[in-house]
Amino acid sequence: MFYFNLNRFLMDFKIKGTDGKARVGELFLSRGSIRTPAFMPVGTQATVKAMLPENVKSLGADIILCNTYHLMLRPGENLIKKLGGLHKFMNWEKPILTDSGGFQVMSLSGLSQKSNEGVEFQSHFDGKKHFLNPEYSIKIQKTLGSDIIMCFDDCASFNSEKSDIALSMKRSMEWAVRSKEQFDLTDGGLLFGIQQGGIYEDLRDESTKRLIDIGFQGYALGGLAVGEPQNQMFKVLDASVSKFPIDKPRYLMGVGKPDDIVGAVLRGVDMFDCVLPTRSGRTGQALTRRGAVNIKNSRHKDDYRPIDPDCNCYTCLNYSRAYLHHVFKSGEIISSMLITWHNLHYYQELMSNIRDAIINKKLIEFINGFTKLQNSGDLSLI
Ligand SMILES: [Zn+2]
Repeated sequence: MFYFNLNRFLMDFKIKGTDGKARVGELFLSRGSIRTPAFMPVGTQATVKAMLPENVKSLGADIILCNTYHLMLRPGENLIKKLGGLHKFMNWEKPILTDSGGFQVMSLSGLSQKSNEGVEFQSHFDGKKHFLNPEYSIKIQKTLGSDIIMCFDDCASFNSEKSDIALSMKRSMEWAVRSKEQFDLTDGGLLFGIQQGGIYEDLRDESTKRLIDIGFQGYALGGLAVGEPQNQMFKVLDASVSKFPIDKPRYLMGVGKPDDIVGAVLRGVDMFDCVLPTRSGRTGQALTRRGAVNIKNSRHKDDYRPIDPDCNCYTCLNYSRAYLHHVFKSGEIISSMLITWHNLHYYQELMSNIRDAIINKKLIEFINGFTKLQNSGDLSLI
């Protein structure tokens, strides 16, 4: 039967400039375009924690990530659909990428039973049994109204034996086929495939080849930033990123620290997500161009200076380290709000500076300056 799939005609990814392997691009989606390299703030439970959506947007985020696992368990995708879909539900009109739930099923849930069919698992909320497989994961993501849908994949832990990682990669590729078949049944969103294979070049290559044969609108690297050293992750990127189709976006899942992002952009990655700026915001850690600043440290208790005197975010323009130290120590909610604000501002400004540096073919100079400042440490005591 002839099947006409509109989805594949809706995406347009334009490369606007390159510097070495690094690229600046724009991914055009119906809800707005995404400037790449892009950082996606994480909105696990349909909220970027401690931030209003309009503020996340004003800081420069073109897209956020939400977690299928959390939303399927609570409040459930059908309720969200009944209330107008995920964008309306959480008051975020720009694009949303949803993950497949696979990673959380294996890392967060209680006892899980995996087979080639899918994964049976216990909810970490109430212990109830649930089942997730490629077909169901894609259906949930479509029901939510996601703009970028991720294939359901199997993630082996990075210190597993190579033979186990190979089996897990092969299963992920079978699941990628099933994800694509399910995705093609209805309109809506783009579908990204996920490369697996641990730190092994031959497995990553086999995975890439199989994903390209299936054909996706974007390609992600999975199973990285799961505890392996940074140089090992960069080695995988060196060996595999340029083997993806040049005209499709490349997404490094769950990464990362500012220097991870800079190093991955240099190796040709276009998209990132990480809980670090928001999670750190709630634990009193500010991320700055001079590295991390722990606001709970008593050295800040009478410091009249902002987190970063060169930062022009709302927090740095209006609040001292002493105030942030006080509200953090007092357990006040504004502490999470203000430090998260600064952190997301810092990440989006970093991405914007990276894009400018690539366009001007000055990425190496930019990275040298970035690294020097990161290593210089916090401001000296007043
Ligand atoms: Zn700031």
